[in-house]
Amino acid sequence: MDINTKILKKNAYRITKKRGLTAIRIRVPGGHMEAKHFDVLKDIAEKYGNGTVHLTTRQGFEIPDIEMKYIPEINKMLQPVIEGLGINQVDPYTGYSAAGTRNVSSCIGNKVCPFGNYDTTSFAKRIEKAIFPNDYHVKVALTGCPNDCLKVRQHDFGIMGMTEPQYDAYRCVGCQACVTNCKKRATGALSFENFKVVRDHEKCIGCGECVGKCPTGAWTRSKEKYYRLAIMGRSGKKNPRLAEDFIVWVDEDSIIKIILNTYDYIQEYIDRDAPGGKEHIGYIVDRTGFEEYKKWALKDVNLGPKAKVAHNIYWSGIYYK
Ligand code: SF4
Ligand code: SF4
Ligand code: SF4
Repeated sequence: MDINTKILKKNAYRITKKRGLTAIRIRVPGGHMEAKHFDVLKDIAEKYGNGTVHLTTRQGFEIPDIEMKYIPEINKMLQPVIEGLGINQVDPYTGYSAAGTRNVSSCIGNKVCPFGNYDTTSFAKRIEKAIFPNDYHVKVALTGCPNDCLKVRQHDFGIMGMTEPQYDAYRCVGCQACVTNCKKRATGALSFENFKVVRDHEKCIGCGECVGKCPTGAWTRSKEKYYRLAIMGRSGKKNPRLAEDFIVWVDEDSIIKIILNTYDYIQEYIDRDAPGGKEHIGYIVDRTGFEEYKKWALKDVNLGPKAKVAHNIYWSGIYYK
């Protein structure tokens, strides 16, 4: 069978080690889906694959050992799943691009986790809708709080939920559990003065620990949602490193605009002679410098009054010798 590998990859199928066999990849934005879709994945694996399904590191599925000739049939079977997951497609029944921007993943967030400051899946889906499909290799991940269970600092865009805790002095019985807890588990932003708890906004990382710790409900999460946006973390063989904070106390709309602006920046500066024509975004920033990236990233972004932007960022990471 004559196979166009570009088309294969663009349809979420993978070139594999086994001649004539491919694997289909299913992305799951926000890492959460209706259980009914499992039936379709099971049917595909049993009818066309080898009866197994691999759980990917980016919260998707990969069904191996599929003969290429079955791709059109499988695309037909998968269509309701793609629609159910809300994945953007160029054409229905042709799968979707799996090369380029990766699945937008997230931890479980406040649907289940008491530390979650927001609904991570909803925001992940919103980002996915705005940026996918796109041929540029960009990784975005979200967590509900700075515990960072998903390791978002290993991503190009790591988004961590924040809250600005609200204090009701009338409910406070002065037990100081929040003060001790903030010292032990966060940054020591709270102190007890004149029979009241005082929060140092400069020290507060918006984790929301105090909200969960107060026995009388004197601390509540702010109505406004805020995020910590860390950028240009990566894995890989050359210089793996953690993402550094770009903006703290930033809002959702600004984050989406910054990611969209980043695609324009990539389009302008990518080295098309790099291996595979795919220079990774972090290496582009290394070449042009953070100042140039920042100029592009913040174009037409209306940051809220609380947002704090890094003046400069220095990444380090590992250099293999
Ligand atoms: S990162 Fe925070 S919100 Fe997400 S699962 Fe971990 S503790 Fe819960
Ligand atoms: S935990 Fe609640 S009741 Fe205790 S000091 Fe803090 S705010 Fe007051
Ligand atoms: S949100 Fe976190 S850092 Fe801020 S006061 Fe509460 S526990 Fe401390």
